[in-house]
Amino acid sequence: MRLRRRNANALVLVLVAGLFAQGPRQLRPGFNLFSRDQDIQLGREAAIEIEKQVVVLNDPELEAYVRRIGERLAATPEAAGFPYSFKIVHDTSVNAFALPGGPTYLHTGLLAAADNEAQVAGVVAHEIAHVALRHGTNQLSKANLIQLPAILAIWAAERKGSLWGQVAQLGVGLGVNSVLLKYSRDAERDADLLGTRMMARVGYDPVEMARFFEKLEASGGSRVLQFFSSHPNPGNRVKAVQAELQYLPAGPYTKGDAREFERIKRRVAALPEPPKPMKTASPQR
Ligand SMILES: [Zn+2]
Repeated sequence: MRLRRRNANALVLVLVAGLFAQGPRQLRPGFNLFSRDQDIQLGREAAIEIEKQVVVLNDPELEAYVRRIGERLAATPEAAGFPYSFKIVHDTSVNAFALPGGPTYLHTGLLAAADNEAQVAGVVAHEIAHVALRHGTNQLSKANLIQLPAILAIWAAERKGSLWGQVAQLGVGLGVNSVLLKYSRDAERDADLLGTRMMARVGYDPVEMARFFEKLEASGGSRVLQFFSSHPNPGNRVKAVQAELQYLPAGPYTKGDAREFERIKRRVAALPEPPKPMKTASPQR
């Protein structure tokens, strides 16, 4: 009898533990034909191409601001140790993108649209999450299952020549619809989730990321079109972040230094009109 009750208690314990065992969702990179090193190589070479096509802002104060935010997030374990870099594109459309292996870009229009530092950090965390989860090369791998193995094997053996050049020959570009930069809703949901964890870890209010995305989408218009065509809304962003909060440190969370942010916003507002880029304002092939 006593034994049976003990068994019953144990059963209740197992059931209760089961309810909580669901825990935070595990996030790992999916199928990929590229190695981590090849992600880094590909992103470095693609960054050189992109920087020929956009206007990289040369403003040490703004660059330092974005780099400081980015480097804090990049140092979290969730960022998976890729060699991140952070640059600002002088372009008034609201956009951000990251290449495999770490090169990350924020448009001046995005800085102008943000309400606080945590919102800027939210976008950076979301982009870092795409890199850490290797979404770009995952998509590229799935889209080129037949051709890629030989290309990657030859490149790995010879370690010379342009990996990006080889990949570009498959018809892969860096434009709005690039397989490297246009994500699925599932990838978006995962990037939000991993970004949320990064933000919480360094003390930014993670809800600000989702709030900013929702605000941008509600604002509509052509200035945000490119961001949402490559980062489609997975739905219920604020609710998803709030649901994740139960697994995260209790805070306190910050929206960042408000006075410094105002100074940054004034500086962005005072920038001259962006010079005409070589081709278009957005990354193209
Ligand atoms: Zn995204």
